[in-house]
Amino acid sequence: MEIRPGIHQVPGLKWSNAYLLVEDEGLTLIDGGIPGDGSKILRYISQLGHTPQDLNRIVLTHSHPDHSGPMKELSRISGATIAVHEKDTRYQPKTGGRRLHYPGQPPAFGWNVPFLRRIPAHETIEDGQVLPVMGGLRVLHTPGHTPGSVCLYMPEQGVLFTGDMLLANGRRFRRPVYFPGTDLKNYRASVERLAGLTFDTACVGHGDPIRDEGTARLQEMLDSYSWISPRWTEFKRWARLLFPH
Ligand SMILES: [Zn+2]
Ligand SMILES: [Zn+2]
Repeated sequence: MEIRPGIHQVPGLKWSNAYLLVEDEGLTLIDGGIPGDGSKILRYISQLGHTPQDLNRIVLTHSHPDHSGPMKELSRISGATIAVHEKDTRYQPKTGGRRLHYPGQPPAFGWNVPFLRRIPAHETIEDGQVLPVMGGLRVLHTPGHTPGSVCLYMPEQGVLFTGDMLLANGRRFRRPVYFPGTDLKNYRASVERLAGLTFDTACVGHGDPIRDEGTARLQEMLDSYSWISPRWTEFKRWARLLFPH
């Protein structure tokens, strides 16, 4: 499903969103859904007339398994490199490389979640870096949801990929529920930074993208949102998420 020229939302993913940036030089995937969603991504790549080997790079907005689910297999099949912010990774002395890391656990725990330990981080990305994708895909380090959360910004096209920093239902933004590892103070600072950007389209991590007037709609959320968020209100939000009806 093409949202903007060359920018596709992979259809059929039930839980979270994956976006494909399509250029003659190759494809870039931003996030990839839950384990098992890899086949849907590969099917969509072939529907677009491409082969898995056309996928050059996978960029993760953060390490959570509902966005990094099929990455190990996708990377192996396509040869694409996996890029993620260093703070959502951990150095693995055994292999001499980095692996995804779940940042919500107390640092005293010396272990990494087995599932994430499987997924290599071939490349770490940082604030201000511009990836050579569609004329420049700018990395914004926006900690809060996780310490290594990033948003990806295309100023020329007015497109922002938010990961789980901002969710939406196609018309309105909302913020994600509290998660172990979430830092509300950092989160607020990051969202205020996003509000200073100019964009129309917001490709969100869950729900439906915002297709126009992104900046104004984000300001609406900020104007109406109470930042005093005692933890107990999060239980209500979790309950609504888990038991929507
Ligand atoms: Zn997340
Ligand atoms: Zn998520």
